[in-house]
Amino acid sequence: MSQSAKCLCGNVTIMPKNINPEFTVCHCSMCRKWGGGPLFMMQCGTDVTVEGQEFVTEFDSSPWAKRAFCSSCGTHLYARFKQTNSINVPVGLFPKVPELTMSMQYFSDLKPKYYCFSNNTEEMTEAEIMAHFGSADS
Ligand SMILES: [Zn+2]
Ligand SMILES: [Zn+2]
Repeated sequence: MSQSAKCLCGNVTIMPKNINPEFTVCHCSMCRKWGGGPLFMMQCGTDVTVEGQEFVTEFDSSPWAKRAFCSSCGTHLYARFKQTNSINVPVGLFPKVPELTMSMQYFSDLKPKYYCFSNNTEEMTEAEIMAHFGSADS
């Protein structure tokens, strides 16, 4: 599946070679602070072309990940995992990806009580994520 993602102002275009139509949700406090709510992310791997690099600002959000935003419009562009260099892009940046499935909810135990998804997904708690990935946040 080939799709391109654009920020609000259009200065940055992200073109992953492959995207996984099974997207993930993160309920951790960092993602909720970043986006104002739970973060819906498409796993895009490492084979990704980014046009408009001069507008991309990356910052260290944790010891294991960087986050990027458009310096012109502020749209959140991706999280990059330092160990694998793979990136996850917010679902909403893709204008028309067909047949998406919410497959996983990360940090399910950190989800505040004021929202709840009825989607049938896998879930991982902070303890399960720490055991699996060896880190506490994304
Ligand atoms: Zn922009
Ligand atoms: Zn998160």
